[in-house]
Amino acid sequence: MTSPWTARILTLFPQMFPGPLGLSLAGKAHEDGIWALQTVDIRDYAHDRHRMVDDTPAGGGPGMVMRPDVLAAALDANLPPAGADWPVFYLSPRGRPFDQAMARRLASAAGVTLLCGRFEGVDQRVLDARGIEELSLGDFVLSGGEPAALAVLDAVVRLLPGVIGAPETLVEESFEAGILEYPHYTRPRVWEGREVPEVLLSGHHQRIRAWRRAEAERVTRERRPDLWRAYESGEGAKTRRPADRVMD
Ligand code: SAH
Repeated sequence: MTSPWTARILTLFPQMFPGPLGLSLAGKAHEDGIWALQTVDIRDYAHDRHRMVDDTPAGGGPGMVMRPDVLAAALDANLPPAGADWPVFYLSPRGRPFDQAMARRLASAAGVTLLCGRFEGVDQRVLDARGIEELSLGDFVLSGGEPAALAVLDAVVRLLPGVIGAPETLVEESFEAGILEYPHYTRPRVWEGREVPEVLLSGHHQRIRAWRRAEAERVTRERRPDLWRAYESGEGAKTRRPADRVMD
């Protein structure tokens, strides 16, 4: 049997994994062997008596920096399988912003290695020496890379074949067509005086599709002018619109 999609996490806090990914959709998929998780405790690669993994920043300033020798030892002892499509990232606010296209890219790989920083971050030399790309969850600062790694894995695991029962749920979602998703409604038909939009109860698939498309476009225009511009100019993630993909 071929090995399942594998997440390898280098961290000072291996006990944070699988964390929330041990439950629900991802947890079930993990149990079913659709994906595997390997945690590497960076501290196991500290070589001095005190198992030091960090030190004071060169040039002064607050905080501590993770040592390149310890990180390189951890990385080198846990290289991706030879020849495998298996990217290695350092989670960092300075990195390339993580997005749905990257989630798809990672889901199509054999696995991924995610290096989680702590303190002020890692010594730049280990990133340069090992050619490690940086990946950011967004324009904010976390206290460690672990929550970012969990978010990245959540986004990837749900895309793996067999994780989501009805794959057509995936194709219509926000960002898959380069724009945000239309709003959802369910029962009851009237709640606190608010009605489910009439068209959704019409059973008229073409009208429903057109309404959803218009709503998706309106929401994107209002909330995300950046996405809207890219979508309109045909540079969005994909040029097909989500409502064109409704399978009825
Ligand atoms: N001094 C750094 C922040 C360090 S935060 C700076 O200003 O850029 C500590 C660790 O949290 C980082 O090493 C990184 O692994 C993780 N982290 C913080 N914010 C993140 C984000 N937005 N995306 C991904 N990882 C993040």
